[in-house]
Amino acid sequence: MISIVVPCYNELEVLDELYDRLTRAAEKWGEPFEVIVVDDGSQEAFWRQLAMIHKKDSRWKALRFSRNFGHQTAVSAGLYYAAGDAVIVIDADLQDPPEELHRFIDKWKEGYDVVFAIRQKRKENIFKRFCYKLFYRILSGASETVIPEDSGDFALIDRKVLQVINAMPEENRFVRGLRAWSGFRQTGLAYERHARAGGAPKYSFAKLVQLAIDGIFSFSASPLRLATKLGLLTSVIALAGAVFTFLQRIFADQFAKIGLAPVPGFATIVIAMLFLGGVQLICLGILGEYIGRIYDEVKQRPSWVIQEGLGLEVTSRTVKNMKH
Ligand code: UDP
Ligand code: MG
Repeated sequence: MISIVVPCYNELEVLDELYDRLTRAAEKWGEPFEVIVVDDGSQEAFWRQLAMIHKKDSRWKALRFSRNFGHQTAVSAGLYYAAGDAVIVIDADLQDPPEELHRFIDKWKEGYDVVFAIRQKRKENIFKRFCYKLFYRILSGASETVIPEDSGDFALIDRKVLQVINAMPEENRFVRGLRAWSGFRQTGLAYERHARAGGAPKYSFAKLVQLAIDGIFSFSASPLRLATKLGLLTSVIALAGAVFTFLQRIFADQFAKIGLAPVPGFATIVIAMLFLGGVQLICLGILGEYIGRIYDEVKQRPSWVIQEGLGLEVTSRTVKNMKH
């Protein structure tokens, strides 16, 4: 069986089209399938519509979070409940076309354990595209795990890899990173990313920045090293400055000849202070990011809270803690 996980946050505008296109595509694979829609704290009407879909087609199942927990958590919950031999993660907005999924399944049958999609053309504006590019370059430069560039969560994952991902207890879940970390045989498939089928993006720019920060800080310790490097660099600059000032005082005449006579320089002091202050704040911020993450993990809160399930074994209001 193949499971398809769809994280959704207020995707009412696209739900019917999603149902039609995904069901039609999945029926062509000739394999049994289930769809797990994770309702990430959407409005009431969305859940009602899901209930209607589940009633007419029990292959469509759903989980309802008690509030908005965020896209990565919704994907993680879907992966946790998926029963298939392979799981596909797809966005609700049809930016990733369901009609392309048979290519993923073919690759899986060839023996690959993870088939991730590589976005070839994006339909977003230039600024957003630039940010995406920048993020993936920073991530691949900083991370110890090789996380393929321009691959989102749109992917097919074999049960083997799924078990590894589900066993990871971390709170800040950067799913595409966990997927890459797991290893096994992974391959990428290029596809063209479409524009949204309807509705507005549910990822605000702030949420995207948060995702990028999660990605970098969960998969790399190099920002910590950056702090050390910055500290060393400023110390060297400060030392050079001290030597320079010292020589300037001793050989004042010679320096005056080449136009470098000592001037009482408030500016230099102020600039140096600001620079050092800035470096210190950056370093504190970097420490803060890691400590915040440690704090999150130490609290051992469940990653999500489920209010209701349709066609899935969750009793009402169950708290599903990934640690058990
Ligand atoms: N999404 C979610 N929870 C959120 C934000 C988004 O489950 O808090 C879902 C959303 O419904 C969609 C997917 O995540 O299915 C991707 O969101 P979106 O299309 O807004 O992101 P983009 O494609 O712009 O990166
Ligand atoms: Mg989208």
